[in-house]
Amino acid sequence: MEQGKDAYCNIANRLDYLLIKYNSNGDLVTTPGYSAIGRFGSTTNLDPSDSIGCGNAVANIAHELGHAWGLLHEHQRTGLWTSEYGGNGATNMFTFLCENMADYEEIEAQRQAEGKSMNLPCRYENIALAAGFSAYNLLPDRSGHDMGPASEVDWDSIMIYGSIAGSKTVNGQRLNTLVKASDGSTFGYNQVPSEGDIQAMYWLYDRVLTKPLKSTPVPFWKSASKWKGIFNHKNQNDNCS
Ligand SMILES: [Zn+2]
Repeated sequence: MEQGKDAYCNIANRLDYLLIKYNSNGDLVTTPGYSAIGRFGSTTNLDPSDSIGCGNAVANIAHELGHAWGLLHEHQRTGLWTSEYGGNGATNMFTFLCENMADYEEIEAQRQAEGKSMNLPCRYENIALAAGFSAYNLLPDRSGHDMGPASEVDWDSIMIYGSIAGSKTVNGQRLNTLVKASDGSTFGYNQVPSEGDIQAMYWLYDRVLTKPLKSTPVPFWKSASKWKGIFNHKNQNDNCS
């Protein structure tokens, strides 16, 4: 990581850099991966505050870095929702408590003025987005990018929102918007990439990361190692036990 110089990062080598723009107004968003065609490198608008997003700056930054590498939201995978929400899974793995969204009443009032209900914006990402309803960040993303296993949630992923995502605060308590459909229990955000996150990175970057080793490595002190001589020579005066 290095301090960016505008001309170098923005113009000459833009594709190779994650451009991080700090702010303090709650702006937390990253463009996923980069566009090789448009030559747009990834950009993160980062408010490094503990009071936004999942309520923890480390988890927020881990999540945004996941986006920068090209990872998308775990909870928005279509295989984790049924067609009731525009998904293609056999069961809903989440229960979405739409009326607990912070902007529910505001959007509901707008819809009522137009003679429309909240039924569709509470179920379909594209309709929520068109209505300006923040639920679009929670509902299944139908752009065809779900590469994970159906009906199997990676609860440890840095790319999953916790149960209070986007919720309103009532009597000093954040309400829940997403809970586990199996038993109604809550789940949290994560600060450390899960095994599934790592596997997704291998899948995205396998050309670079999964090149098989030409041969099994042999420890330097074994006679089969071509480095045994130099290893013994370097260690001849070593009294370490
Ligand atoms: Zn995100």
